Amino acid sequence: MSAEKENLSRRDFFKIAGAVGVGSLLGQTEALTAATSKPNQAATAATKPAGNVVPTRPFGKTGVKVPILALGGIFDITSNQLLLKQALKWGVSYWDTANSYVKGKSEEGMGMYFAKYPDQRKDVFLVTKTGGRDAAKMTRHLDLSLERLKTDYIDLYFLHGVRNAADLKRDGGQFKAWAEKAKSQGKIRFFGFSTHRNMPECLLGASKLGFIDGIMLRYNFRLMHTDQMKGAVEACAKAGIGLTAMKTQGRRSRRRGAETETKAKLVERFLEKGFTSQQASLKAVWENPDVASVCSAMYKFDVLAANVAAALNKTKLAAADKRLLEQYARETCSGYCAGCAGICESAISRAVPVADVMRYLMYHNGYGDRDMGRASFAQLPAAVRRRLAKIDYSAAERRCPQHMPIGELMREAAEVLA
Ligand code: SF4
Repeated sequence: MSAEKENLSRRDFFKIAGAVGVGSLLGQTEALTAATSKPNQAATAATKPAGNVVPTRPFGKTGVKVPILALGGIFDITSNQLLLKQALKWGVSYWDTANSYVKGKSEEGMGMYFAKYPDQRKDVFLVTKTGGRDAAKMTRHLDLSLERLKTDYIDLYFLHGVRNAADLKRDGGQFKAWAEKAKSQGKIRFFGFSTHRNMPECLLGASKLGFIDGIMLRYNFRLMHTDQMKGAVEACAKAGIGLTAMKTQGRRSRRRGAETETKAKLVERFLEKGFTSQQASLKAVWENPDVASVCSAMYKFDVLAANVAAALNKTKLAAADKRLLEQYARETCSGYCAGCAGICESAISRAVPVADVMRYLMYHNGYGDRDMGRASFAQLPAAVRRRLAKIDYSAAERRCPQHMPIGELMREAAEVLA
């Protein structure tokens, strides 16, 4: 999952759409909802951005400006065509997908759209990804993506889920050579990777390579304040690497327990100002100018509209808001895996990819996406799944900077994700 499902209640959406002075968003959403039953009328609507559109930022040194909000496409887009049209109207023209998403239905859905509106392809900054790690497989995946997406070029092509910086230098720089060739053939414009694990190390490693144009990383109010992360983001900014943040809500792997008082204070404070805590989490990320865009899986109109409203809203978080967010992150840290996989996995001789399993639990428990959690878990080797609940994780727990009850959560994963 390269991006997150933002759960925003309809009640919250109505508050936000009104509060930030973008009431027209609601009207457009309702018009589109009505248009769903009249596809021919909807198909003739203009899609050019008009009026309020999401602001843009430079994407590293690529010379391209991207909207600060990107459409994460980890859902069946073949049956969500009107959402793409509306995203473009609001200036959400950075679209993210992957070869593996929804068994190809994400790429195919975007391809359906470009087949119908070929003139709009140039308006979209299109990103897709490959899980391949050798030149032949990457080329096969890229060609399949081009075919599914009904386009002859990808703007930014990612290696999906890079696990550590050393991966990027494997096999005598094969990725650099592959990227240069794909660029010279006109199949991709830029090259980079996404990462969920060991993010600061991956970013620092990438900043020294000289051939990485963009990175999508897990980045949110829980992760952004460490010196390591700050240094890694700055190094990428200096190297001219465009950064896209994902998993910006910082949802937890651990099942929700009783919420803290700080959370209640945050929700109340933000609603008084006219935005939800979900929107505040987006704002926290946008406050860092070195992050070009936030990628969010906006699979419903109301989620898209609420996120666009947040992007248009110019109210900044106050220092007290940020302090409360940091306090909340500290209070709930034992439920959130920071992806520092090298720390816990080395304590158990890498018998289990703990950080990956924590992420699958996050899909299941944090996002309530049981299918995604189970489908991801099913990709693990059978031997890993079998030994998951049998390992002694006490040494890993002692090292975990988030103080996570790793053993308890691995046993839970073995039960609920199997
Ligand atoms: S379980 Fe703890 S040590 Fe392991 S990746 Fe998550 S936060 Fe880091």
